[in-house]
Amino acid sequence: MDSIAQLIAAFDGTYAGQSMTDLFSLYSQIEEQTASFCKQFNIACAQGCGTCCEHFMPDITTSEARLVAAYLLFVKKDSQLLEQVRQNVDNHEGPCPLYRFDSPYHCQVYPARPLICRLFGACANQDKNGKAVFRRCRYNTEHTMPLSLTFDEDVPVMQDYSYALRSLDDHEGEVGYLSEMVDSLLDQLRFLANMLGLDDSNPDDTPNPMAS
Ligand code: SF4
Ligand code: SF4
Repeated sequence: MDSIAQLIAAFDGTYAGQSMTDLFSLYSQIEEQTASFCKQFNIACAQGCGTCCEHFMPDITTSEARLVAAYLLFVKKDSQLLEQVRQNVDNHEGPCPLYRFDSPYHCQVYPARPLICRLFGACANQDKNGKAVFRRCRYNTEHTMPLSLTFDEDVPVMQDYSYALRSLDDHEGEVGYLSEMVDSLLDQLRFLANMLGLDDSNPDDTPNPMAS
């Protein structure tokens, strides 16, 4: 498998497949909205920047962890990366174990990356007075985005996106740090893949030439 579409198709008819489909569809909708928001307000990250990933460990839901775990197991198939995730289960501060320092592409699960990674530095927030505001990411020293914006019009805010995400996971409920959450789902996915007869469920040792 080499894409999320193939991954989702491989798990078709299972709970995991449905969860991946729903999540990816939500990600796609959100991506469209944030792209249009960023274009309208001249918001862009600096070329090749990924500094935020060096300084935090994303907090993610169970369905997000499932998609990342499945992507690692069946698309990346990189045992070193899986081991890196395992070794970081107690790391709550970052850097994210899926971050590559030596590649301009940085994120090794880019198509499957969690919501917070899609929104960081790219969407408005609701402030304590209920007003939508945007603040430049503090690592953006090249100033490729405005310092601060306050909106009178209705723009999507991070809290709305988080709510939509959490509502997908209502019955699963759990939220936690990426490494721990992803690691906890690997065995379950391997078992399911085995039941489905997926023949590429065992990661090999082939190094990744480039991040996704
Ligand atoms: S959000 Fe900030 S640190 Fe992260 S990639 Fe964009 S500019 Fe860089
Ligand atoms: S999952 Fe990817 S984008 Fe998110 S923090 Fe890790 S390396 Fe960065």
